[in-house]
Amino acid sequence: MLAFRHRTAPVPSRDGQPVEKTTSWDRILEHLKSRVDERDFETWFRGTRQKSESADAINVLITSPLFIEYIPREFGDRIGEAARLAGLEGREIRFRLEGEEDYRAALTPSRQAPPRRRTGDLNPSYTFENFVTGASNRLAHAAALRVADQTSRQYNPLFICGATGLGKTHLMQAIGHRRLSRRPGERIVYLTSESFVNDVVAGVRFNRMESVRQRLRAVDVLLLDDVEFVVGKEASENELFHTFNALYEAGNQIVFTSDVPPREIPGLTDRLKSRFEGGLIVDIQLPDFETKVAILRHKAEHAKLELSDEVAFFLAAKVKSHVRELEGYFNLVVATASLKGEPITKDLAQEALRSVVKDEAHRAAPADILRAVAGQFGLKPAELRARTKRSSIVVPRQIAMYVLKETTSLSLPEIGRLFGDKHHTTALHSIRKVTSRREEDPDFDRQVAALVAQFR
Ligand code: ADP
Ligand code: MG
Repeated sequence: MLAFRHRTAPVPSRDGQPVEKTTSWDRILEHLKSRVDERDFETWFRGTRQKSESADAINVLITSPLFIEYIPREFGDRIGEAARLAGLEGREIRFRLEGEEDYRAALTPSRQAPPRRRTGDLNPSYTFENFVTGASNRLAHAAALRVADQTSRQYNPLFICGATGLGKTHLMQAIGHRRLSRRPGERIVYLTSESFVNDVVAGVRFNRMESVRQRLRAVDVLLLDDVEFVVGKEASENELFHTFNALYEAGNQIVFTSDVPPREIPGLTDRLKSRFEGGLIVDIQLPDFETKVAILRHKAEHAKLELSDEVAFFLAAKVKSHVRELEGYFNLVVATASLKGEPITKDLAQEALRSVVKDEAHRAAPADILRAVAGQFGLKPAELRARTKRSSIVVPRQIAMYVLKETTSLSLPEIGRLFGDKHHTTALHSIRKVTSRREEDPDFDRQVAALVAQFR
């Protein structure tokens, strides 16, 4: 078979300006994104870029010595897997520090995929053993366990909801792991709703819906993550409805997750709503202080590290939103300690977090954002809060909510409140509206991008 190799030189565009080309490292990052926690991805990979490449190596620049040691160690396997998926196996990936000549670390993804685990797409660490329970998630955890052990057939579907980063995916996959270990013959399918939609789109386009259907309906347990993403996509919604019915009638288990309960998913059709609500709905809340500390302890134990109460309390108090953020901070502190060869003390933790926390202090104030967005449309900030459905107000308001979400750490309910106690699903709906219009309307997209850039 012939192999073609892309040239790496910039391709001149029609007006003679070089166009930035997607590099091999970009392609690896694209695949890596779905294999690494969002927060970790931001922390560790945002600042990396490809310096050059050759037939046998991809050379990557990294900005900090801390990262150069941590990235290959912590993410080496996943980078290798991502490289394989990008069709770049066998090439060495070398890491070097900005401003230095020598490479400090390298890894070579093997040509062979690692032996396929029976667990398929499940993240190996998302097990019940690794899930720490507290008041915020006890009910969801108990229900998930029952579904996994199939002690109740009434929990079908199980619908887990809660804000992002609180452990929905983890809990859902824990069900999959446990079912597999108890009944090794079962077919467990975990799908993000995005890949579900992509499957349907491809099925329709290439006229192979029948095989997509067969694959989806021949499962014992279907785990469909972030199902709100399917809503409003007609063909996918329809397919989901029929898949659901087929699985349900055959007595097979279905588990959904979503950021809000079914009745709050904007635009959800009645027939799907009644299916989603037909089993058990459980939610996960923000963890309280004690649960955050317990999660940190668990992580430390798992990594065989000493974590003093002082440091655990410090980190737990720092994190205001989700568990993912807690993990991100924890990882950063651990990496800093290990690279410095120092024990994890509160001083060290404070120092490690300084860059992250400073960022937050520098974030734009919501009032500035409201003023800027209102100004763009010739409005006063207060007018954005008016109780009206006039599009001259509604559209700027939606944009303001979107910019707030993109550039501040405000939660959806907090954003809703800025606009006169609007429920957070209104904010969610607005943000989705802006997201989809950005995809369709280039002028609108540019306008919003400019506003976002102003506050980043
Ligand atoms: P969601 O799907 O709700 O956005 P995830 O399941 O991806 O959230 O969780 C984010 C991160 O936090 C994951 O790495 C997960 O392992 C961790 N996490 C969340 N809840 C817990 C918990 N109760 N115990 C241990 N880790 C947790
Ligand atoms: Mg998730």
